[in-house]
Amino acid sequence: MANHILVLTVLAMACILVIAFEPSPLQDFCVADSLTLLAQVMNDLPFLESKLAQADHFFFGGLHMAGNTSNPLRLKIIPINVAQIPRLNTRGISLSRIDYAPWGVTPPHTHPRATEILTVLEGSVVGFVTSNLDNKLISKVLNKGDVFVFPVGLVHYQQNVGNGTTVSRSSLSSQYPGVITIANVIFFLNENVYFILKRLFYCGPQTLGLNEYF
Ligand code: MN
Repeated sequence: MANHILVLTVLAMACILVIAFEPSPLQDFCVADSLTLLAQVMNDLPFLESKLAQADHFFFGGLHMAGNTSNPLRLKIIPINVAQIPRLNTRGISLSRIDYAPWGVTPPHTHPRATEILTVLEGSVVGFVTSNLDNKLISKVLNKGDVFVFPVGLVHYQQNVGNGTTVSRSSLSSQYPGVITIANVIFFLNENVYFILKRLFYCGPQTLGLNEYF
């Protein structure tokens, strides 16, 4: 009996060890081409015959140029994903440049398909990550050269906490990470859901600014 317990214990401990890796690509590249009439698609995108690939399919220029931050968020995100570089199709990677005016902020959001790793190029930023298990807030003031990771699916935001401009660059582990902005999800739903929101926030429609729906 003791031997059986020992064997089961060893097996249980062995099950803790998990080794995983991303599947390897099956081709050198798979250039997305929204103009092609080919029937074949990969990741929901029609793709070009590999022999027709050109250098421009692998290229994006101008990322050194600052984005226009004249908007309520005082922020501009320049995404570089499969929509800008067709060659990123099936590669599982993308990036973005973010320009922040003083006190500019990216509202709390998640990327459903990507972990994000952010590098501050100029200025200072506060980065936050919240976990849905215990809603723990993890935050840190970042400065030039600092790197911060936002795990896939977790709510996060950045804010320029200085009086100068800030620039950051993010790499994301998806060709098209997607974004779910929390405020948009909550407040731009159809009116039937507002009754649920009233109970979710434990407050009346006046507080939510939704008088017309109640
Ligand atoms: Mn993000």
